[in-house]
Amino acid sequence: MKQTAEIGIFGGSGFYEFAEGNVEEIKVETPYGPPSDKIALMTVAGRRVAFLPRHGKSHSLPPHKVPYRANLWALKSLGVTRVLAPSAVGSLQAHIAPGDFVIVDQFIDRTSGRLDTFYDGPIVTHVSSADVYCPQLRSLAIDAAKVNGVTVHEAGTSVVIQGPRFSSRAESVWFTRMGWDVVTMTQYPEVILARELSLCYLTIGLVTDYDAGTVVEAAAVEAHNVLEVLTKNTTNVKNVLRTLLSHLPESRVCPCVDSLKYARME
Ligand SMILES: [Zn+2]
Repeated sequence: MKQTAEIGIFGGSGFYEFAEGNVEEIKVETPYGPPSDKIALMTVAGRRVAFLPRHGKSHSLPPHKVPYRANLWALKSLGVTRVLAPSAVGSLQAHIAPGDFVIVDQFIDRTSGRLDTFYDGPIVTHVSSADVYCPQLRSLAIDAAKVNGVTVHEAGTSVVIQGPRFSSRAESVWFTRMGWDVVTMTQYPEVILARELSLCYLTIGLVTDYDAGTVVEAAAVEAHNVLEVLTKNTTNVKNVLRTLLSHLPESRVCPCVDSLKYARME
């Protein structure tokens, strides 16, 4: 397999400006249908990056319609071994404020009906989900956030809801009382499909606002700031990812590489 890119990035359309020099857009076919859009191949901090807008370039795919399997497969087919997946999240805890970054280390799956495995048989494969976020990438992301002066929470549990609706107030209160940190709609099954392909996966939760029912007073104060926060998050995440890429060692020193080692019933 010819390696076209080493690192995959899922994100919003702001990433096209990320490139140093030319961007080549290519169409990739997979056994799982087409990915969300064309994949943009670019160089960032001297590394070859494949960028895929998760919701499509025109943002036409809602979270439950994103072709997650095709997206991960397409990146892998280009030679990608590490996936960086920044994503907007709502805060479930008062101390996690809009504009903060959360380096997620656990998920709670509240989605339904999404195609979430590559292993429908005949080779039965059970991958471990105990720790699916790459420790090497997480550690680099924490350092990169600090270098760029971003308030960073070094761990956090992300509740992935089905969407496209937001949480009810009662659901939100429940998530908060369980001690979970942020809520999002896209991390599952993305993270687990990456694991099934032995890819490293990192998500950076970019906190945009407080979820419904959470710390209501704070939400009232912050509501008018959402646009300002989104702009700030976009700038910060690009700086953080650029720093991360410039410090990223060539070799993967993490358990992700061996994710299939004990996963097969053979
Ligand atoms: Zn890894």
